[in-house]
Amino acid sequence: MDRTQARNTFIDLIARFTDYSSKHLPDDVRTKLKELGDREDSQMAKIIYTAMFDDIKMADALNRPVCQDTGVIQYFVRVGTKFPLIDEIEDGLREAVKKATEIAPLRPNAVEVFDEKNTGNNVGTRIPWIDWEIMPNRDDVEIYCYMAGGGCSLPGTAKVLMPLEGYEGVVKFVFDQITSYGINACPPLLVGIGIAGSVEVAAKLSKKALLRPLGSHNSNPRGAELEARIEQGLNDLHIGPGGLSGRSSVMGVHIEQAARHPATIAVGLSTGCWAHRRALIRIDASMGYEVISHRGAKI
Ligand code: SF4
Repeated sequence: MDRTQARNTFIDLIARFTDYSSKHLPDDVRTKLKELGDREDSQMAKIIYTAMFDDIKMADALNRPVCQDTGVIQYFVRVGTKFPLIDEIEDGLREAVKKATEIAPLRPNAVEVFDEKNTGNNVGTRIPWIDWEIMPNRDDVEIYCYMAGGGCSLPGTAKVLMPLEGYEGVVKFVFDQITSYGINACPPLLVGIGIAGSVEVAAKLSKKALLRPLGSHNSNPRGAELEARIEQGLNDLHIGPGGLSGRSSVMGVHIEQAARHPATIAVGLSTGCWAHRRALIRIDASMGYEVISHRGAKI
């Protein structure tokens, strides 16, 4: 395969992968929703979970997005330094979004700032948003596709706390937000928290926390304990599916951290919704692929 063929194959593959992401929830999210639904005992909560699973089934049967808000597309790319198409990835992802918007179809959600014009194809200035990580001495690429909806993780928030507010301040910030606009996202929520020394790092980590598989834990045992305690506390609010009350509020709480300055503790918060469209693909140097987030997926 020459370079042009490889580029076209990459664009086509990512377009189909992005289309697929909009129509199929990842394995871990489906499993968690089933688990939470089974634990509910109120009639209303059971009806909402049944509606969610009907929606998932119909999206599959009718080849339609799981939610009408297919969001702003965000790609989180971990690229090997020896991946042969490294120079073509950025442009290829933009082309793939245009193509996915047509074939899915995806709702056009990219509005140019100042012009206040919807571009109509989900591509705009710095959109799709691309986050880069380098993998030394590898010749493959791993790409997360995340559909950030206007009601879920896009209205995130971040703040630098006074140092003496400490981890209690972090917890207070999270609970204040989730009990006010956090419920803006359709529950059960996935809560991503970033803790760092500055607001932009905390915000970014809170989004990356949403990419972690459900059931995974923070790498630091104290971080993992804080995740569990916040999860328990949020579940005790009994927000329930759709925010209509129930036994649980969240699918999980994930914290990611970076070392901070002694004088600052910043916290970022991003909330995912039940329709958590997060998919992960690995592509090798010869354009072979595996969809890691959706077992057995053929795209
Ligand atoms: S919060 Fe999620 S499920 Fe609700 S409308 Fe937005 S994208 Fe759809």
